[in-house]
Amino acid sequence: MRSYQEMTKEELLQEKEQLEAEYKKYQLRGLKLDMSRGKPSKEQLDISMGMMDVLNSHVDLTCEDGTDCRNYGVLDGIQEAKVLIGDMIECNPENIIIYGNSSLNIMYDTVARSMTHGVMGSTPWCKLDKVKFLCPVPGYDRHFAITEHFGIEMINVPMLSTGPDMDIVEKLVAEDDAIKGIWCVPKYSNPQGITYSDETVRRFARLKPAAKDFRIYWDNAYGVHHLYDIDQDHLIEILSECKRAGNPDMVYKFCSTSKISFPGSGVAAIAASANNLEDIKKQLKVQTIGYDKVNQLRHVRFFKDIHGMTEHMKKHAEILRPKFEMILNLFDTELAGRGVGDWFKPKGGYFICYETLEGCAKEVVSKAKKAGVVMTPAGAPFPYGKDPKDSVIRIAPSYPSLEDLELAANIFVVCVKLVSIEKLLA
Ligand code: PLP
Repeated sequence: MRSYQEMTKEELLQEKEQLEAEYKKYQLRGLKLDMSRGKPSKEQLDISMGMMDVLNSHVDLTCEDGTDCRNYGVLDGIQEAKVLIGDMIECNPENIIIYGNSSLNIMYDTVARSMTHGVMGSTPWCKLDKVKFLCPVPGYDRHFAITEHFGIEMINVPMLSTGPDMDIVEKLVAEDDAIKGIWCVPKYSNPQGITYSDETVRRFARLKPAAKDFRIYWDNAYGVHHLYDIDQDHLIEILSECKRAGNPDMVYKFCSTSKISFPGSGVAAIAASANNLEDIKKQLKVQTIGYDKVNQLRHVRFFKDIHGMTEHMKKHAEILRPKFEMILNLFDTELAGRGVGDWFKPKGGYFICYETLEGCAKEVVSKAKKAGVVMTPAGAPFPYGKDPKDSVIRIAPSYPSLEDLELAANIFVVCVKLVSIEKLLA
């Protein structure tokens, strides 16, 4: 396929005319499509409905250690839930605290506690002149919203196909003790679907931060969210790697079952070293008497063990895979070789990330909207909502039906082509 850059002005004008006609046809249909929401479809939620059956008024709600889940107690989560989550994130149950229904909530709490009370005895961040976080970009907008909320300065670090640019990360954390953390989505990242390479994880574990209260915020939200049975990405386990490297306290690992069972009604957890857990529990025991043990038990009784969860994730994959493949195939046939942008081919997670020519993302999103397709706002995957190149667009294939998604993806392709031609002709 010839790229637009190789075409003459006349050829481009001709192509533009054709695309405009196609675009108008879509506009006249008055469509209402949405590729912005990174949440499971109804069909996916339906596969977890068995969760509603495992507990009822006749069921014994006693845990394996004899705890009555209906009553107060057990600050850090019931043992069988720790074992399940431990297997899910490849961590020792001893290193886990189970919280409530949201990992984002744990991350918020973790930053909030560091602001008000410091990290393992260090000066509370609120008493420091400056606190900074590294933000691999593009990344998850809600991470950036947390650090922005607390007035923490965010520094962009480019994502490479292997994860964050570690030359930059190593240099910055070593020379600036105001840098207290880094946001990471290490597996099937949001939004690019990138899994950090072995070398990247090893370099993370061997960081030499100037700040002793520097922590890696390792948000393993998509750890078991593979699209394929065999062709899967593998991620080195960070807690044990940090321990091996002599940095056992440098990482907090977050996870939840939000996109495994029910978003908003799942089970979330943190995994960290014994020192970190002790520090966290000092706050936790003031904050709550204990989280929702009934929900923890419900999850354990439904999944039984990690094998049950793995089988369950295959059902999600069966629903998600055709959606991802449809979009990626369409991009291959319509956009590859055209010189109008790049994208990764994720093997898991929830997103596809399209990178337009510089200065085109906002216009593509706006054009798509005028043809009835809602996309995540351009700029959202960047701190302060500012994409310096205005080129990243996050596509969320999970929620719409395959039919709607196909229509939306075709409209998106037309918008990308049109905006790219306009840019090249300008
Ligand atoms: N972390 C990442 C990277 C996400 O993409 C999401 C949801 O989209 C979350 C966390 C939210 O997780 P939770 O529902 O556990 O708060």
